[in-house]
Amino acid sequence: MDFNEYVLFINSDLRILKGIGEKKATLFSKLGINTIWDLIYNFPRGYEDRSHFYTIESAPINSPCCIKAYVRGAVIEKKLKKNMSLYILRAEDSTGFINVKWFSSPFNKNKVKRGMRYSFYGSIEQGNGIREMILKDMEPDDENILTGRIMPIYALTNGLTQRDFRNFTQMALGMIENVYETLPQMILNKYKLLPLDYCVRQMHTPVSFYEQEKARYRLSFEELYMLSLALKRLRCVSDVISNVKITNIRCALDFSKDLPFELTADQKNSINDICVDLMSPRPMNRLIQGDVGSGKTAVAATAAYVCAKNGYQTAFMAPTDILANQHYNTLVKYFEKTDFKVGIITGSTKNKNTVLDDIRSGNYDIVVGTHALLEQRVVFKKLGLCVTDEQHRFGVIQRSSLSKGDGYPNILVMSATPIPRTLSLVLYGDLDISLISTMPSGRQKIDTFCINSSMRERLNKFIQKQIDDNGQSFVVCPLIEDSDKIDALSSSNAYQSLSQVFPKEKVGFLHGKMSATEKDEIMNKFRSKEYMILVSTTVIEVGIDIPDATLMVIENAERFGLSQLHQLRGRVGRGSKKSYCVLVSDTKTDDAKERMKIMCTHSDGFEVANEDLRLRGCGEFFGTRQHGVPELRIANLFTDLAIVKLASEACEHTLRVDRELNSDDFKPIKSRIDKLFTEFANIKIFN
Ligand code: ADP
Ligand code: MG
Repeated sequence: MDFNEYVLFINSDLRILKGIGEKKATLFSKLGINTIWDLIYNFPRGYEDRSHFYTIESAPINSPCCIKAYVRGAVIEKKLKKNMSLYILRAEDSTGFINVKWFSSPFNKNKVKRGMRYSFYGSIEQGNGIREMILKDMEPDDENILTGRIMPIYALTNGLTQRDFRNFTQMALGMIENVYETLPQMILNKYKLLPLDYCVRQMHTPVSFYEQEKARYRLSFEELYMLSLALKRLRCVSDVISNVKITNIRCALDFSKDLPFELTADQKNSINDICVDLMSPRPMNRLIQGDVGSGKTAVAATAAYVCAKNGYQTAFMAPTDILANQHYNTLVKYFEKTDFKVGIITGSTKNKNTVLDDIRSGNYDIVVGTHALLEQRVVFKKLGLCVTDEQHRFGVIQRSSLSKGDGYPNILVMSATPIPRTLSLVLYGDLDISLISTMPSGRQKIDTFCINSSMRERLNKFIQKQIDDNGQSFVVCPLIEDSDKIDALSSSNAYQSLSQVFPKEKVGFLHGKMSATEKDEIMNKFRSKEYMILVSTTVIEVGIDIPDATLMVIENAERFGLSQLHQLRGRVGRGSKKSYCVLVSDTKTDDAKERMKIMCTHSDGFEVANEDLRLRGCGEFFGTRQHGVPELRIANLFTDLAIVKLASEACEHTLRVDRELNSDDFKPIKSRIDKLFTEFANIKIFN
């Protein structure tokens, strides 16, 4: 098979394999496996160690193992139910006897020959006097397909078996003499990576766990390297010249002097980073990363001020209407003493056309809104800066579309998902990063408690105590209406019971199905302390800033992930008052209990995020939806941190020596990256 034939072959439909017809192809397709390439790159989800053979006497009890033994006597069949039989055969080696048992068998009992030696794989129990094995696989001695080796275990779907995966993968690999290398030789040498062909084969049929791990290492490196390259390339604006000209940055100092607080050192450093970016002829692409409440808004506001001073407008985007409103209120306050005007456009904006006119004419210097701001009909007079808050709702792809929009404006992204720096390097490879790692002074630790629902009366007393001290409470519930299926205290239910305990006019109720106007109204009443308690669904999750909120109650806390819980908790403790978070949960599951415990013992966002990664693994944590990057299939961002680092270093180096990846060495990797991102988001990374 020469290279062209090879390319044709790996891109072929699975049905060219003997034994795969319409039906099987559809099943494979369910798992995203459509081509030969998909099949050979569909690696096992785990392995069973069947490499060692034990004697009957030395075989371990209750953990699956292989033995070799002679069949003594015929297979006995016992009918159990209509379609179910138990089969037993007696086997012997030099150390003793064993009864091998299986149910409704895949093994044809007629094929088992007396006196012949077989290999058996299964779990051994100490029966009455004689050992018994519950059989999983068996084959004639010396066949060594199902035993005597490390067996791959594939993720299945109904209708496909392990045997299907093994056979078809091996069939495909058998037809390919060599899986052509995709990484440049230079990278292989420098990072001591094994050839692709060897690695792919070792993943499917490892000779040892040691070799399999080396193979996985290479494939994981390759995956992270490709992702890094793609994301760095997405920062395509890096070699364009911005037509935004910012020359005066000293004004940043004037603005921050007038803020109602002294900026923290980290805030100042971030502003400094931003100013340097703004001065540069290349557009800014910066991520401000800081825990909830670390004061990212003031930093972004300063950037907006600098742009305004230089004659440019800023688009300030929030993920929800509620947050947009809040930012609007904050920014109006911050800009009170300046000559600049702040506008807002959301779903509830009534005089939209007037607002649009004011944006177009340049009457507004700063415009706050949701991603509706990205819509075509919003035309800016002179857009200089796009700020997007709570970045995880805007993925990489949206960012790149933004940056290409309007003469390459500067981009500032704010994120409260604190992740280790090495991870940011990959996940935000398209961004420069400024970190706000310290909180404004005067913040107190939020005490977190976990209670069960039998303590509700005490909880109500605690809410009352907050009210007595002029403190407000959030009560967050996972569902809007009661449903029979999910046993969770719904927010409307919680609202009802709380308004029986407390004066009804003091309790507000907010949920996602309300109109934007209704939501505004309720938030305003809470902000102005007409309401002392706000019952809500998770619409308040991100960003809400209520300085007098001192208590966050989270109902059915087990239903929330750690990062979400941390975000919710960050809604309190933003003023100088001592604040609390109470997790209400009757859960009995271990992992939910562990999450509750972590929340009670960790208050730092980075630590919580790390624990979250550890518990959930990266797949979910960095799900496609959240971050807008293709899912990682081999690499594990938590356990492979060292590889993340190397891959990202390799990526930097590559782009330094060949920023367009023009050399022939990069052809294969370029086409794989393009394929990946075309499938994922229909964007082309390379031209
Ligand atoms: P986040 O980073 O979560 O977006 P915010 O920007 O909403 O945080 O700031 C949280 C709160 O901290 C706000 O009430 C803000 O006024 C206040 N704040 C921000 N910076 C400082 C500071 N340097 N000193 C004191 N308070 C600050
Ligand atoms: Mg914020």
